[in-house]
Amino acid sequence: MGALSIRNVRKAFNQTEVLKGIDIEIAKGEFLILVGPSGCGKSTLLNLIAGLDNITSGDILIDDRVVNHLSPKDRDIAMVFQSYALYPNMTVRQNIAFGLEMRKIPPAERQASVDRVAQILQIGHLLDRRPSQLSGGQRQRVAMGRAIARNPALFLFDEPLSNLDAKLRVEMRTEIKMLHHRLGTTIVYVTHDQVEAMTLGDKIAVMNAGSVQQFGTPHQLYDDPANLFVAGFMGSPS
Ligand code: ADP
Ligand code: MG
Repeated sequence: MGALSIRNVRKAFNQTEVLKGIDIEIAKGEFLILVGPSGCGKSTLLNLIAGLDNITSGDILIDDRVVNHLSPKDRDIAMVFQSYALYPNMTVRQNIAFGLEMRKIPPAERQASVDRVAQILQIGHLLDRRPSQLSGGQRQRVAMGRAIARNPALFLFDEPLSNLDAKLRVEMRTEIKMLHHRLGTTIVYVTHDQVEAMTLGDKIAVMNAGSVQQFGTPHQLYDDPANLFVAGFMGSPS
């Protein structure tokens, strides 16, 4: 049994099926990549895991608990999107602490949590600034800080680096990798970038047109692609 189990998950919008029976299973602490071309259903699947939309059929389990009918706040997850969605009139400190305040965490504990996150992400010097006074990379770091502060069982990332320039994207990729090593949290990370998938993933699900074409380690996908789509998409030699 894993930290995340996706069992024969289907999703239709009106009559159109956009997820056609997805099966994925990962263990606690694993970094799962959902990769595939635009429109293949990555965000739809992530939103179902987050509870932002209703499943048509199938089951999603987080830490062996069926969560199909739980609201997002009861799922022990934190989500980071490509747009940072920071509160513009709050400081960085307030942005990070806000979710904890909502969950009625006492002030001293909130403070400790903000300090821990600031140290991990090296944003201690930014705590009293507002989002408008930050660079794109710093904003994304704060958005991650807000997610980390909640100490969730599962992190969900939807193309978090796609708004950043190429150089910063490489930097942040390294940072996310270090963060995963350090925190050991289970991560589901959506991208359409093959390099990001290969460098970050413990396991990769290559998706196309609402189906998983292959699920495996980066090595398995590269050395032994299941079909031409995977070979072409991952850039393997065959
Ligand atoms: P990806 O994230 O891989 O680019 P999405 O999951 O956003 O793809 O979309 C998958 C398919 O589902 C697309 O064809 C998209 O148009 C469709 N879709 C996504 N959300 C909705 C919605 N709320 N209503 C109708 N169709 C949707
Ligand atoms: Mg998407």
